[in-house]
Amino acid sequence: MIKRGYYGDFGGAFLPEILVATFDELERVYTEARNDPIFWHDYEQLMSSYSCRPTPITFAGNLTRHFGGARIFIKREDLNHTGAHKANNVMGQGLLVKRMGKTRVIAETGAGQHGVATATMAARFGFDCTIYMGEVDVERQRPNVFWMEQLGATVVPVTDGTRILKDAINEAFRDWVTNMDTTHYVLGTACGPHPFPEMVSWFQSIVGKEARRQFMEKEDRLPAKVFACVGGGSNAMGVFSGFFEDDVELIGVEAAGRGLDSGAHAARLCSQDASVGVAQGYKTYFLQNDDGQMRETHSIAAGLDYVGVSPILSDLKEKGRVRFEGATDSQVIEAVRLTMRKEGVIPALESAHAFARAFKEAPQMSADEMILINQSGRGDKDIFTIADAFDDPKWKQFIIEKANRYHA
Ligand SMILES: *Cc1c(COP(=O)(O)O)cnc(C)c1O
Repeated sequence: MIKRGYYGDFGGAFLPEILVATFDELERVYTEARNDPIFWHDYEQLMSSYSCRPTPITFAGNLTRHFGGARIFIKREDLNHTGAHKANNVMGQGLLVKRMGKTRVIAETGAGQHGVATATMAARFGFDCTIYMGEVDVERQRPNVFWMEQLGATVVPVTDGTRILKDAINEAFRDWVTNMDTTHYVLGTACGPHPFPEMVSWFQSIVGKEARRQFMEKEDRLPAKVFACVGGGSNAMGVFSGFFEDDVELIGVEAAGRGLDSGAHAARLCSQDASVGVAQGYKTYFLQNDDGQMRETHSIAAGLDYVGVSPILSDLKEKGRVRFEGATDSQVIEAVRLTMRKEGVIPALESAHAFARAFKEAPQMSADEMILINQSGRGDKDIFTIADAFDDPKWKQFIIEKANRYHA
């Protein structure tokens, strides 16, 4: 066991001996890229021609008037190709794969969004692509499985354990151990063994760099608060990193599910239910039992229900630099409804956690203050869940008729 890449007491790289050389290679290529200004330039070029960078900041004038407090601004990561900030990470790692001369990528996916983003990147770069996905998630996320396969990826349903995201991660590591000469593992968030937390955060830092510059150009000062939802922590790290050195309050919003005292949530940093442990190659807060068994999590947003969290965010919590709050499923649904009606913007259910918390705090602030909400993604993908939550009878009728047509 070798340990490196610590943030305070968190992080590290708890690796089987066989993967140490592969991680050494990854760290070396990543460090070279980071010290090479041409690499970042190429990355920005790629993201401006293939995705939608720089993404705009939208002033939410109607929401601001509705709440009557701080002026509300939205960073529009939903306008990225494939609909979320995940493109920033996968395209960056794609460039590294080219540098390493590898030809195959693998990834884990839970909700399927990271799988679709990785399959898209692989199609564009011409890599072979295999996506590991828990069998339960394959059943729950058919539209994303369909797209991954149409994009040319092989989707492998994982039948181990509880057959969800954490099991898919374990299976992806098993693949990597056997195929490391040709294969790179595109981890989807700022978690896992070093250098992944740092590397994924670096690619996502493009969000915070832009946001800070956009505020200085347009407003000549910075927002008082920045809100971001926290699953693994990559969109939060991305936007927060633009403001670490500034007098800006940073608020990470986790999935409080059916309530923080219901047991049915995915709150690691804003609840008392998580504890520090080592799993999946790194040390952080995990939702686990006393004997280290991972607990079941719940969130209305499939992208927020991971048992672990970025070790960098665990450290920022201990240091008091980031405040962590929760938003419940029902607060999130209300935030989606209001944002759609007032601004014509559909936030992803994940992103809507940040909106819900911001809506609580904005009315308490003064009109000369500004807040920024990171809209990590768009909500089109959530049509099934949102339509159910809104209990729309015409939608139900549509689904029934569609199903009946297949019976005929
Ligand atoms: C995957 C996803 C998240 C959660 O991941 P982080 O690494 O915490 O950012 C949040 N929002 C959207 C739209 C996602 O697709």
